[in-house]
Amino acid sequence: MTLPQSLTELARLNIGISRHYSTILLDLPAQSITPRSLIIINDFWQRYNNQIVCLVLHNLPPCLLPRAFRQIHYYRQTGRRYQRIAACRSCALATSCPGWDNSLYVPTEQAQPIVLTPTEVVIEITGHCNLDCGYCTQAKNSGGHIAVGTVQQLLTQMVRSHVPAVRFTGGEPLLHPKLSELLSCAKSHNLYTLLNTNATILDGKRLEIMARHVDNMLVSLQGFNDSSDRAMTFSPVPFSQKMRNVQKLRSAIPTLRIGTVITPALLKNWDKYVAIIKTIRPHSWEIFRPMSTPLRGRHSVSRANYHTIAGRLLALNQHGINAKIANALPFCMFPDTSIAASTMLGALSDDGHSRLVWDLRGFFKPSYFIDKDLGPKLSDAWKHPFLDKVRNGAGLPAECLTCLCWSRCRGGSRAQAYKHYRSYHARDPLFDRSSARRQARVFTAP
Ligand code: SF4
Ligand code: SF4
Repeated sequence: MTLPQSLTELARLNIGISRHYSTILLDLPAQSITPRSLIIINDFWQRYNNQIVCLVLHNLPPCLLPRAFRQIHYYRQTGRRYQRIAACRSCALATSCPGWDNSLYVPTEQAQPIVLTPTEVVIEITGHCNLDCGYCTQAKNSGGHIAVGTVQQLLTQMVRSHVPAVRFTGGEPLLHPKLSELLSCAKSHNLYTLLNTNATILDGKRLEIMARHVDNMLVSLQGFNDSSDRAMTFSPVPFSQKMRNVQKLRSAIPTLRIGTVITPALLKNWDKYVAIIKTIRPHSWEIFRPMSTPLRGRHSVSRANYHTIAGRLLALNQHGINAKIANALPFCMFPDTSIAASTMLGALSDDGHSRLVWDLRGFFKPSYFIDKDLGPKLSDAWKHPFLDKVRNGAGLPAECLTCLCWSRCRGGSRAQAYKHYRSYHARDPLFDRSSARRQARVFTAP
């Protein structure tokens, strides 16, 4: 990709531009940050943000470019002096940010405090499921169905907190007897609606409800034929029937995604799964690191397995299939972080960084896999000290806190850290110190 005009403008402002694999770093020395240069930087960010695999802005207080705050890499540096300004008092980053750099050439009035709101709330609407998947976290048929009144209260809280999207999950959400009412209530609040389903119990009425109310659907796909599907899910529904359902949903829903947890079957039969994906033509294929209890057969995914999968995903991407590992993995587990940046979405959607999950038992939790009760009120749950620690990277290796992959990687998975070290704030078991340090050296070299 070429960025001639903007790059020339930025270079004229003495802004350092460096590229490390797929990450572009804009190094913004304090003397280069002026009201005029901020306009150009903002313009650059708006124009190219979606086209660059990973764009990082270094040395810029996030309050000067609030919309880009997740891509800003701003931390205390030795020899610099910082102060607290008026905006810091209401800024969501105040506990992790060193404050306003005194050598900036911008009036402090230009700072806009960062307001963190969840991008999505996931609601577990039922504990019932017609399948018994080996990787599932829910105890089978636990918890009944959520009451319509509870969902209405949650939606009201979401609107008050400016949350733009709601996702219904389960169990199997299509088993909720009042699903139509729940979805139409979400739509009446102008929310973007997402729904997770196994797509095995789709009749005409349910299809019509989906078509009318669902904007974005994630369908789990764990097999590529009858026997492989049944081995993973114990599905009583023939695979051919599920595929017919998926095709109908593909035509009816604006965005249809397919999700597959990594299993020995996937690793062994990759081409057969790819053939199914090519038939469905989903908007994206999301591959998931197994997070819950060991899959049947006590399988775990090795580093080598992930490297193999990443290579295969790169090949698929080159053929126009949008396929990624969609949950948390440390980017430094790859010697070449550009592979991670191109094939992994990172932890941003997990662990309470950008969304919360309503547990059917009556409280918010950080993710499907972190059984931590953050309370029943959305605004309090979102500001819970536990999440503050997770978002600030408390307890993580020093390399994480200055790492240029931080904006997406977030130190990998908190659920996996807990599983291996009994602490949600420990390093991800797949964290690789030497790879993390190698990357830091490349960026700090003059
Ligand atoms: S804490 Fe203060 S200096 Fe830091 S981003 Fe927020 S407003 Fe800006
Ligand atoms: S050093 Fe930390 S933030 Fe960076 S890639 Fe590794 S785990 Fe992720």
